[in-house]
Order: sequence, then structure tokens, then C-alpha cells
Amino acid sequence: MAKQVYMDHSATTAVDPVVTEAMLPYFSEKYGNPSSLYSIGRQSRKAIEEARQKVADLIGAKKEEIIFTGSGTESDNLAIKGIALKNRTKGDHIITSSIEHHAVLNTCKYLEKNGFKVTYLPVNKEGLVDPADVQKAITPQTILISIMHANNEIGTIQPIEEIGRIAKEKNIPFHTDAVQTIGKIPVNVDTLGISLLSISAHKIYGPKGVGALYLRKGTFIEPQMHGGGHERNIRSSTENVPGIVGFGKACELAKGRLPDEANLAKLRDSLIKSVLQIKESYLNGHPTKRLPGNANFRFSYIEGESMILSLDMKGVAASTGSACSSTSLEPSHVLIAIGLRPEESHGSLRFSLGRENTQEDVDHVVSILPDIVNKLRMMSPLAR
Ligand code: PLP
Repeated sequence: MAKQVYMDHSATTAVDPVVTEAMLPYFSEKYGNPSSLYSIGRQSRKAIEEARQKVADLIGAKKEEIIFTGSGTESDNLAIKGIALKNRTKGDHIITSSIEHHAVLNTCKYLEKNGFKVTYLPVNKEGLVDPADVQKAITPQTILISIMHANNEIGTIQPIEEIGRIAKEKNIPFHTDAVQTIGKIPVNVDTLGISLLSISAHKIYGPKGVGALYLRKGTFIEPQMHGGGHERNIRSSTENVPGIVGFGKACELAKGRLPDEANLAKLRDSLIKSVLQIKESYLNGHPTKRLPGNANFRFSYIEGESMILSLDMKGVAASTGSACSSTSLEPSHVLIAIGLRPEESHGSLRFSLGRENTQEDVDHVVSILPDIVNKLRMMSPLAR
């Protein structure tokens, strides 16, 4: 069998065996409902509260400020709709960027249909939002600023601290989607000046289908799920105990392993350096302000999808951008926002490296990619 190399960690990660081990008892002998008063119920409650502390510790928050949800997508929805509906009488204007994940963009579009106004800020060719643009976009009606911490496709890390200062000065709640940054770069809600922050377990070697929203004490939102009053009445639903326990363990491990991410950046740079040797290949995103594992390229004259299939045949898993839009023929909104033409954006390829990748993996990719690009170019009518 061909060597298998997984380089799509921004899409998802394998659950760490230590995480699986921590979760397992909560599927079987420790099955109590955390709302039940008897011992096995209280045992589940205790496990949830311990996990909450671990999640809080990873982002410098207080335990009471963490609300468990079903995903990063749900956290984004809860943050944005929650603030919008709570503050409807104060204002109707939201500021976000044009390169947000669809969990944010489509939530904003939904709110637009329901009477809210949304400013979608542009980014420069490296994918950066200009804090001065945020400042200029603020009106007396602005009730929320939502700018992602780092982009899932091109890896660009935004000047969140500066935007956080502007939001604080104007007393406007500031939400950031940190799904791609926790466990990869330091995230501290106080340093960054964040009021709400979305995170997800499956990007940091935890299980799928569990996320959390950080909600700063004193920031109020309208619940989006009504029911039995779980999670401080903000997100009703019997808690996903094994998932939450796994998320807590994944956060604990991620905190301890944060220094390893610097090594990942070295591996990423070695990949970038070698891939850019290929004729007419370019790096998408910022050269330095980028996620340690992210390398996003574009190759003239060919399509990302064909490269992915060819790489797959050689055992390498990569992506064209975000997993959720890879089945759509629309060019990536992120690549269009950084100024690429649709045909340029179709020639893009994202490698996202993770904990188990080695220099050998990078060498393998580098040894097969030039051939793949050449073969596809030979077949491409655009290359003549
Ligand atoms: N936000 C960003 C930046 C993401 O990359 C993702 C997942 O790809 C999400 C939100 C959605 O998270 P989840 O898959 O947990 O719904």
C-alpha cells in the first residue's frame, strides 16, 4: 500500500487515544444524566464541570463563562443571533469580514433577511482585515463586531487584539471564531479583548459534534435552543457527556502541547519552500501571519480538485479549502476576497499539517507533487 499522509487537519483531526480513553466510561458504566440528583447523575455533572475548567484554562477564561454546544457552527450561530436578538432595541448593525466561515456568513445573511444590516469588510491580498476599516464601519447602531481569529482556508491570522481594543473603546460586543486557532497559537480572551469566542473539539484531536461558546461575564445573549434550561438557560439539551469529557481532555492536551506548534511551523515552511520551486506556483495568504500548520498554494492552469484526486491516489489527503465547500463548484469566497480571479482560485490547494506529520511526510508530498502538476498541466487547455 502507498504511504498514507494526512494533511487536512484544518478539516478535522483523529481523536487522540488519550481522549478516547477518557470518554469511554461515559458511554457505558458512567451513563448518568448530569441533571439527575442521584450518584451516577452527579458523577456526570462533576465530569462536565471538570471539562469546563479545562476548556476555560486553554483560553484564559473563567469556568462559568463556557457554554457547551454541539459544534463550532452552533457556537457561531448562538453568538451572532444571540447578540442580535438580545440587542434589537439598541441597534441593527453588525460588522464582519468577507472571509468568515459560512457558519458566520450565512448566519449574517439570515439576519439580513430579518431586518438587520451587515457590513462585510474587505481584506487585503494577504487576507488581513484592516482595523481602521473596523473603526470606520462603526455606527451608533452597531451591536456586534464578528471577525475570525484565523482563516480556515488561507491560514491568515487577524489583528484581533487591535480590533478588540476598538470594540472595547466603543463598548461593542466582539465575537471571534477561534475554531482554527485554539491549540495552535496562544488564545487568551482578556489579551484579545473578546466578549464571545467560538471553538470546536474536532479540530484539536477531540470528538466531532461538540463545541463551546465563551461568553464574557456581563455579556448577554438570547438563547437559540429552548428547553429544560441547561447550560445556564442559554443552551438547553441534555449534555453530550462523553463528548464534553473528550473536549476537556483535548483542551488539556492542547495546552501542554502548544510549544510543539513551533516545530509544525518549521515543517510547514519546509513544505512551502519546496513547493514554491514548482513553476508558476504561488502561496495564498500571509507569508508570516499564518497558522503554524497551514500552507495554501495556487498553481496556474490546473484545478485543485484534480490535484486532490491525484494526491489521493498516492495516499495523500489534502483539500481545496474548506471541507464544507469542496463539493460546490463556486469559487472560494475567501480566495475571491483576496483578489484572485475565479480560474486562479480553482487552482488552489491547501495542506494543513498536524501533530503526527513528519519531515518524511513533507518529503513524500514534495516528491510526488511536481509530477502531478506537470501531468495535469499537459492535459490542461489553459496551459498552452
Ligand atoms: N469556523 C471555522 C473557522 C471552521 O474552520 C469551522 C470548521 O471547519 C467551523 C467554524 C465549524 O465548526 P464545526 O465543524 O465544529 O461545526
